[in-house]
Amino acid sequence: MSSLSARKQVRKKKKKMKRKAVVLITVILILLSILLIGTLSVSKATVSDLEAKPIKHENVDSKYMVLVNRKNKVDEKFYPKDLVIPNIKFLRSNSSNKYLSKDVAVQIENLFNKATSENINLRGVSGYRSYKYQKNLYRNNIRKSGEIQTNKYMAQPGTSEHQTGLAIDILSSEYASLDEGFENTNAYRWLLENISEYGFIIRYPKGKQDITGYAYEPWHLRYVGKTAATEINKKGITLEEYLNENK
Ligand SMILES: [Zn+2]
Repeated sequence: MSSLSARKQVRKKKKKMKRKAVVLITVILILLSILLIGTLSVSKATVSDLEAKPIKHENVDSKYMVLVNRKNKVDEKFYPKDLVIPNIKFLRSNSSNKYLSKDVAVQIENLFNKATSENINLRGVSGYRSYKYQKNLYRNNIRKSGEIQTNKYMAQPGTSEHQTGLAIDILSSEYASLDEGFENTNAYRWLLENISEYGFIIRYPKGKQDITGYAYEPWHLRYVGKTAATEINKKGITLEEYLNENK
């Protein structure tokens, strides 16, 4: 073998080794990225991640005991995995916020059906809202009404119960604005009498702002399940107080 062809063969071998190394590195990189994506999707929050402390009571479904307020934030990436649109009438049929967590959607349908049978015409206003939606809403409201007025009613992104899929704003066909005047309607009086049965509470009652962090919102219903709702409504307490009593 001439020294020239020997050199050629050495060069060929080197080239082959280089190619092998490139293939190997590419495979390693692909494997690493698959692993990384895996960990990312696992670390996404789920409803159970948001569960409050376990509750002593029997029959209380702790997955509905999620506490979200100004101090307890929801992860930016969190969204309920079981969102559905309930079959109820909405104030604005083109609303993009009709979704609710599945169990909540079923109960809100039952509540609306009972209301209709008693000539109360409820209207859904806003159910699930994503973090991004709340962020835009909050920003726009500050531009419109200023920071003080906005913070009185509106949740900062990540502190809104609407992101959990367990809350819905409700008005009626007779009263279509989200303000305290809703409390003087037949619809609101009817809601107070009937929501416990379907597992809902008025999440921000009058005079409880120091505890909930929000001004009175007669239109904001929150699903907690029948047992908890019955006790909370009977005692006239807030979710914060209920969770505190049942630590
Ligand atoms: Zn609300």
